[in-house]
Amino acid sequence: MATRRLAGVGETHRNELTRPVRFPILSVKKKPPGLPVFLYSPLTMKIGGLHKVSLIDYPGKISAIIFTQGCNFRCAYCHNPELVDPKLFEPPMPHEEIFGFLNKRRGKLDAVVVTGGEPTLQPNLIPFLKRVKEMGYLVKIDTNGALPEILANLIVHGHADYIAMDIKAPLEKYSRVTRTEVDVERIKRSIDLVMRSGIPCEFRTTLVKSLLDQEDIRKIGELIKGTRRFVLQKFVPSKTLSADFLKESTYNESELEVFKKDLDSDIEDVVIR
Ligand code: SF4
Repeated sequence: MATRRLAGVGETHRNELTRPVRFPILSVKKKPPGLPVFLYSPLTMKIGGLHKVSLIDYPGKISAIIFTQGCNFRCAYCHNPELVDPKLFEPPMPHEEIFGFLNKRRGKLDAVVVTGGEPTLQPNLIPFLKRVKEMGYLVKIDTNGALPEILANLIVHGHADYIAMDIKAPLEKYSRVTRTEVDVERIKRSIDLVMRSGIPCEFRTTLVKSLLDQEDIRKIGELIKGTRRFVLQKFVPSKTLSADFLKESTYNESELEVFKKDLDSDIEDVVIR
């Protein structure tokens, strides 16, 4: 598979790209509190669900969506608690069921979106994606950006054709919004990698009124200044990781238009969704 050169990548990233990829979670000898046991087993990628067709998840393409189990963040507003809280995990779907489906849909679907949970935590994500691409599908990865080493590998080795990265908050609020101790330097590295990747990408932020204000959105805009596409996602309180968040709200259309106008000069395409 062709490798991709990252435009303008500095020494830190070059090291990151040439260093053999290690899966940090698998290398931990003792399980830190709060992380699910399954992340310590070198087993197959854990798939919690398959959505057979989507017209909106991969811009301009017809895609299937694969949902991976497990996430290292705990965003209270998360609308996929069954993929984040190990107590809610269903038995994973067999890979052969997924590949059997993809095989039958060749020529009808263009792409596969791998989302979560957090896909980059999965120990054998890359062999899985290779197999998907060998079937002729484009691949989109949705990520929270916590593992820049894995993103670098995906980009350089051409395992992803589109990357969508969540920006949870301005850096100083990351740990609060994700309810996780986050090393924000890793988030910055991921933003830089995605922006310099040369592959289609987007950043997106879920807007919960009590968590992010207009100034926060401006700061996020600064972090990703010059990117092509930024999606302001309305929070929909239908299902949440934290039950308290069912009472929370998002911004109305005119407020969102004000945020968009603020960002328009630095980002080509600001989308409200
Ligand atoms: S919103 Fe995304 S990053 Fe946050 S807990 Fe849910 S899956 Fe993880």
